[in-house]
Amino acid sequence: MNPFRIDGPALISFSGGRTSGYMLHRIVEAHGGQLPDNVHVAFANTGKEREETLRFVHECGSRWGVKINWLEWRRDGFEQVGFNSASRDGEPFRALIDWKQRLPNSFERWCTEFLKVKTMFAFARSIGFPDGSYAEVIGLRNDEGHRILKSMDNAKFVKRKGVPVPRDPARRVSFPLAKAKIVKMDVMRFWLGPTGAFPSDDLPQGFDLGLAPWEGNCDLCFLKGKGIRKRLIRDNPSVTEWWKEREIEQAGFFDKRDLVSDLVQDVLSSPSLFDDFDTDEFDAECGLVCA
Ligand code: SF4
Repeated sequence: MNPFRIDGPALISFSGGRTSGYMLHRIVEAHGGQLPDNVHVAFANTGKEREETLRFVHECGSRWGVKINWLEWRRDGFEQVGFNSASRDGEPFRALIDWKQRLPNSFERWCTEFLKVKTMFAFARSIGFPDGSYAEVIGLRNDEGHRILKSMDNAKFVKRKGVPVPRDPARRVSFPLAKAKIVKMDVMRFWLGPTGAFPSDDLPQGFDLGLAPWEGNCDLCFLKGKGIRKRLIRDNPSVTEWWKEREIEQAGFFDKRDLVSDLVQDVLSSPSLFDDFDTDEFDAECGLVCA
């Protein structure tokens, strides 16, 4: 059995990263270049994705002839957008924060839950896939065992007031990359050539995401380590504006140890220093493992 042959009904979650892009390519290939009618692909845009991510999603769809449904969270469900009309100034994320009247953080990570997961569910219902009736195809690799376990757990249980209760119905999750024993280096070589190192002049697919592993997802996501966020601020000081504005508006913080304005001060006081950080630290693709 080819793990990349998907039995519908199914929804492929495309995060806009290299791993889920690789998975999509293998699935399309396994189906002879055309997905079955009851297998759909969705990308949920938070509005804080990097422009490179949006372009990458667009290129995967147009170069491989795959319809990727671009979705954005709305209070009454979701809206279908496209590469040109996608939000680029955090509009869905800001609307969610305004509605919640507070900020998400690493303990209350409802930004992923609403902007990614619930948005995907709403889309699935809109195409006639009732909850629990279809497979969610998730791009977790064989070297991401703990995330797979967490994702399987989340498929069966939902937390209510911090207590896990069984989902009714349970979600059906599928991990073709793990089944095929694909690890990170397989993915990096697919996009970046034999060394798998970024940046690379050798792009076997003719295009690539064009971002270092820690630059994906929302541009200054609070889940990124402090060293990474400082590096991002050094590289592009304007990245802080949106996040600082939200902290001021809500009189709160995304990360109680480090307000965005504190990180800016740190960077200003040591503008030429680079913090050590683990480049694998934020290789996770938001939206695949939580909620
Ligand atoms: S990338 Fe970070 S900030 Fe963006 S939705 Fe995911 S967890 Fe939230």
